[in-house]
Amino acid sequence: MTASLERLSESLARIAPSRTTAMTDRAIALRAAGHDIISLSVGEPDFPTPDHVKAAAKAALDADDTRYTAVAGTEALRNAAALHFQRDLGLTVPPAQVIVSAGGKQAIFHALVATLDPGDEVLIPAPWWVSYPEIVRFAGGTVVPLATVAAGGYRIAPEQLAQAITPKTRWLLLNSPGNPTGAVYSADDLAALGAVLRCHPQVLVLSDDIYAPLRYVPGCHATLAVVCPDLGPRVLTISGVSKSHAMTGFRIGVAAGPAWLIAAMARLQSHSSGNACSISQAAAVAAFTGPQDFLTDWCQRFRVRRDRVVAGINTIPGLSTPVPDGAFYCMIDATPHIARFGDDEGLALHLLDHGVAVVAASAFGGRDGFRISFATDTDRMDRAISRIAKALS
Ligand code: GLU
Repeated sequence: MTASLERLSESLARIAPSRTTAMTDRAIALRAAGHDIISLSVGEPDFPTPDHVKAAAKAALDADDTRYTAVAGTEALRNAAALHFQRDLGLTVPPAQVIVSAGGKQAIFHALVATLDPGDEVLIPAPWWVSYPEIVRFAGGTVVPLATVAAGGYRIAPEQLAQAITPKTRWLLLNSPGNPTGAVYSADDLAALGAVLRCHPQVLVLSDDIYAPLRYVPGCHATLAVVCPDLGPRVLTISGVSKSHAMTGFRIGVAAGPAWLIAAMARLQSHSSGNACSISQAAAVAAFTGPQDFLTDWCQRFRVRRDRVVAGINTIPGLSTPVPDGAFYCMIDATPHIARFGDDEGLALHLLDHGVAVVAASAFGGRDGFRISFATDTDRMDRAISRIAKALS
């Protein structure tokens, strides 16, 4: 085959495969080949999808709900999502300003591809979720990292934001609770960032709130469009059912934002996937409108796991992790061990050889460490920590 036949587009050549999904695929393949691998690489709850949600999916299938839906989602799901935004985030939004996509990732992809041109800058607090910078680069934008540190709760400061904004800044990406650090922005933090943003009317804000129910700090979830309602017309808020309702495989994400942006995303989606899966949409209606009380129990169980994993990791010489305030990830510093393995990817591969799949910190714009997901049961988690300790001893 000739080289020109296999030539990739410039946009694709700018991006790398997702390192979270790559490591997870690798763990799955090793397991299928008979290896005993504990995967802490992907962020998905190990709890079963709630029964009432599964029943709604089965009922949709039995009712032959298997056709195209409106591109932006069924009326039922857009209504249910609007209810969710109001009840769980405090955000009032008409259903017409909600779009349903195949996962939050697709909504983010469409929003950025629909609005970025070469030269547009996108501010992303680092460490960041692996796909943010890749999507920005794919869309032709320029990634501007805003470094954060554990001592500052992995949150950006208003002065830092003010210094980073230029006339070319198009988006600020915020993720609270954050992946991979567990950073949580309070209403006061967001109000201070909002005061800076008010001076720069050209900046859009993507507020990725997919982990909103998973917080371990007192108080309500705070989100920018609610804390600073005057900024609402330029905020796109992302949510979904993947993390909250253990529905990662259903691939349903929802986004609420200004009408022009939702229309632009729908225009792009009409040529990419079209509507999200009709069965998954019916299941998501049940997730948003059905009982929510199990979430308190799940959150409590995640909290117990968090405390256990943080304590376990911090007893291993050369490893340290702060206590994450939300989501289900620990960003672990492993600086004293890195030289032995060349870099953090080498360390991650060494841990995989010892039966634990993790993701190197560099995948998230971090360094000298790795991320684990603690959305797994305590028995497996304990075994994983023992393996990590042994691998680094
Ligand atoms: N968001 C999850 C993670 O960070 C799922 C995998 C992905 O899409 O990156 O592990």
